[in-house]
Amino acid sequence: MNDEEHQVVISLEKLKQSFRSGRTRSSDWRKTQLRALLRLVQENEGFIFRALDEDLGKDHVEAYRDEVGILVKSLNLTLSNLDQWMATTKTRLPLVFFPAVGEVLPEPLGVVLILSSWNYPISLALDPLIGAIAAGNAVVLKPSELAPACSALLANTIPSYMDDKAVMVVEGGASVGKQLLDQKWDKIFFTGSPRVGRIVMSAAAKHLTPVTLELGGKCPVIVDSRLSPSQMQVAVKRIVGGKWGFCSGQACIGVDYLLVEDKFAPSLIELMKKTIKKFHGDNPKEPKNMARIVNKHHFERLSGLLQDPVVAASIVHGGSLNEEKMTIEPTILLDPPLDAEIMTEEIFGPLLPIITLKSIDDSTQFVNSRPKPLALYAFTNDSALKKRVLAETSSGSVTFNDVAIQFACDVLPFGGVGQSGFGKYHGKYSFDAFSHGKAVLSRTFYLEIEPRYPPWNAFKLAF
Ligand code: NAD
Repeated sequence: MNDEEHQVVISLEKLKQSFRSGRTRSSDWRKTQLRALLRLVQENEGFIFRALDEDLGKDHVEAYRDEVGILVKSLNLTLSNLDQWMATTKTRLPLVFFPAVGEVLPEPLGVVLILSSWNYPISLALDPLIGAIAAGNAVVLKPSELAPACSALLANTIPSYMDDKAVMVVEGGASVGKQLLDQKWDKIFFTGSPRVGRIVMSAAAKHLTPVTLELGGKCPVIVDSRLSPSQMQVAVKRIVGGKWGFCSGQACIGVDYLLVEDKFAPSLIELMKKTIKKFHGDNPKEPKNMARIVNKHHFERLSGLLQDPVVAASIVHGGSLNEEKMTIEPTILLDPPLDAEIMTEEIFGPLLPIITLKSIDDSTQFVNSRPKPLALYAFTNDSALKKRVLAETSSGSVTFNDVAIQFACDVLPFGGVGQSGFGKYHGKYSFDAFSHGKAVLSRTFYLEIEPRYPPWNAFKLAF
């Protein structure tokens, strides 16, 4: 064991002792920590904006909407509901148990590990932390090394606001992640790629540690040409806003590709071009109001997707790259080959393929021929199509007539299915993700039913 690993083990032991001492269990401790986290976010808002700008070139309005605002909302919701969530729930028991009381008691899991991703480096680190603290756990949080300013901000502020005997931030990349995964945890909450998700799951299997995997994938958008012109305007605004206005497409629930009827594609593209110009200007080398690509590796990965000559030939808008500023112009591709990487892998960037179908009714079959998405979107008023989308496809969530905003809707569970992950969080679901619902059955000493005991023969005839 090297020095670094030794340090991780010592710190983890301290957290385990804190948890065993009962420090994190009281409602007072949980609320104090959540209020401290709220102060951290509010008092450091300016620093958060600066760090997000440094790591991703995110505008502060986008940063408020998707990171600070989301967290403030989530913290207030949790603080207002915590007593209710912590309360035991009485259950109605079948008569055969009479007289008895049945309850479900939520208890914390213990010491939990949160590994988070770089694209929403503040909210994706702190939102699960809210659930873990609310549920009364001790926590180790490892932010992503690919957003170093945000990671440093969390590492520097969390210990001065929160209880450092129970909440710890460990910075680092894959090797630190690996060291952490070598330890025994009571829960691992992972946000990231399916590739690393598999590593997390096999490490967790060694200790039978429960995991939540918040993964990614390709999120399709079905666009029904039967919308009225004014509805289509709204749909296009929401699609363009949801693609390029969410971290430049570097979003797990961002729009990955569109499915439309072939005869409708040209007019949709024209509408989208106009909206792109309005939202992001018309300087291909310096698109406005867009985050930049996180790093050189991802910039090269995305530009590589366009290098295939057949894919390049399918570009109908954009395609300009600015390596110095690490930006890519909003780019639309019409019917790139379905076996090209752009259609087989999650894009996670500002490139948008439009796939045309003979009939919009074929869209569900198209979705079903690929791994289950984290989010599925459909712009339509047709109730038969809506029914088919719900009944015939499987995805983490379905949103009709909008994109991405389901993330902010705390009363709905957020999570994937199949290759987009499993487990869910947000609001009460976050509390549940970090709790064990302990079944408690309390009997009295009255009313003995003798046939339950041997010798069985004595009661043979009664049955
Ligand atoms: P990633 O899997 O590369 O990294 C995620 C985290 O795991 C980081 O903290 C990283 O340091 C750590 N890590 C990397 N390799 C590791 C290893 N070998 N052992 C232990 N830890 C390791 O993912 P990313 O690039 O940060 O994020 C992009 C992916 O995350 C996309 O697929 C995206 O769709 C997905 N994502 C999902 C959600 C969601 O809520 N479902 C949100 C954001 C991103």
